[in-house]
Amino acid sequence: MKERAGRFDAIVVGARMGGGATALGLAARGWRVLLLDAARFPSDTLSTHLLWSDALGAFDRLGVLGEVREVGAPAIGRMRLAFGDRTNEAAIPTRDGYPPLMSIRRTVLDDILVRRARRQPTVEVREGFVVEGLLRDGGAVVGVRGGRRGAGGRVEERARVVVGADGRHSTVARLVNAAEYDVVPPLLATYYRYYRGVAPIGEPTLEAFRDAEGSFCYLFPGDGGVWTLAVSFPQAEFARVRRDHERAIDAAIARKAGLAGRLAGAERLGPARGAGDLTNFFRVPFGPGWALAGDAGYHRDPITGRGIADALRSGEALAAALDRALRGEARWHDALAAYWAGRDALVRPLYDFTCDRPPAALTRRAWGAYLGRTLTDSAFLGRYVGFMATVTPPEAFYLARQRCGNGSTTKAQRPQRTQRRARSLVLEPSTFDSSFVSFVVFVPLWSHRLALNSAPGGGGRRRRGR
Ligand SMILES: Cc1cc2nc3c(=O)[nH]c(=O)nc-3n(C[C@H](O)[C@H](O)[C@H](O)COP(=O)(O)OP(=O)(O)OC[C@H]3O[C@@H](n4cnc5c(N)ncnc54)[C@H](O)[C@@H]3O)c2cc1C
Repeated sequence: MKERAGRFDAIVVGARMGGGATALGLAARGWRVLLLDAARFPSDTLSTHLLWSDALGAFDRLGVLGEVREVGAPAIGRMRLAFGDRTNEAAIPTRDGYPPLMSIRRTVLDDILVRRARRQPTVEVREGFVVEGLLRDGGAVVGVRGGRRGAGGRVEERARVVVGADGRHSTVARLVNAAEYDVVPPLLATYYRYYRGVAPIGEPTLEAFRDAEGSFCYLFPGDGGVWTLAVSFPQAEFARVRRDHERAIDAAIARKAGLAGRLAGAERLGPARGAGDLTNFFRVPFGPGWALAGDAGYHRDPITGRGIADALRSGEALAAALDRALRGEARWHDALAAYWAGRDALVRPLYDFTCDRPPAALTRRAWGAYLGRTLTDSAFLGRYVGFMATVTPPEAFYLARQRCGNGSTTKAQRPQRTQRRARSLVLEPSTFDSSFVSFVVFVPLWSHRLALNSAPGGGGRRRRGR
């Protein structure tokens, strides 16, 4: 790496989850950071905001858990799943004593990270700054060019590394032409609304409602007494839904047993927002002088509520890798390749799950029967939601044995190896119970392909995006 020179060691583009965590991780190690964002804070972004306990653990390590807790959002300790007149409930597993789940609106949450960054003596935060171009020296990225949107006068800033933490439509990733792999087209369209005055059902609960037509809803309490209702539609319905999404949401609510009653008397706060262009992808997250964190490097449908935690964790891991490279403790390529492999290994099981990939050698019918237990078996629902929270290891969710080769690999092969390993999880045959096949619930991706009252001998395993 080039020696320390100029005002900044790192420029981080994007100051929310991925960028905030990267900047704070670098600042904690004494590096000088320019943190840029096109937005001004506090401000909202298109996202609901379920925070699993690993996200709260990350906030703790970044020094903001106290402020996050002071917001006063309830700790959500239970999940309740409803399908027709059937319901099931389980406690949400947690790690290290953190609240199992919380919901804090992004206007509040992101500002906590940005304020923390502003307080760091080695971090300069510049808001309203749009990065439009990259500076290069030979093949390496050495800085950014940009300025205020709509204003004249472009500014150039230089640093030893430029981090793109600028979301799924990342400008940095586009400018460096970061290669994408394992791309899966959008699976769902998700919209959300806020309410006030929803009656609690006892202890704070993540309520999930499903119907036979494939859409489903989450309802959960959050900060400021505000409840979020998220509604996901199969992607095939997006064209219809977007013509009048408020009406489509109302119809989805009406089809869910009990949901209209839960919302009766509650006050709706503003219009719904949502998106249907939620492509799933990995991007190669580094090259000469640049690296990617958060959604800029890896994106999956938000159905599992993992984006915030994954972005925080990738930002933390990237800061540690950059520190090794900047200090000369490891070669740039070695430090960043390890970051890449670690990122993919961490997120791969839930990526495959989100992208509708049953474990190896399983028929869809068997997989459907397995998932159907979420509605009938409280312990299984606990393992299921624990898997989303990354508290229950993938092996325990799949009741798996792993079929991994012991062959040695080169560093360049490692990301591929971790992908193969995650896909080689297999269910123990004894765990199947086909009597529940008609209750394939909650993860909606299967619903428009797998008949709810499935005929025997369902289809085999199918991969997409290859
Ligand atoms: C409908 C929906 C619901 C979701 N629900 C959840 C949920 O419940 N739980 C969860 O964990 N995740 C959820 N997610 C995912 C979550 O929002 C993302 O994974 C997360 O925000 C990623 O954080 P990030 O910091 O990588 O990127 P972002 O939050 O997208 O931040 C990127 C930042 O980069 C800035 N930027 C972009 N381009 C430039 C530029 N050229 N110059 C300067 N700045 C730039 C933007 O202004 C922005 O502030 C949801 C997403 C959607 C769409």
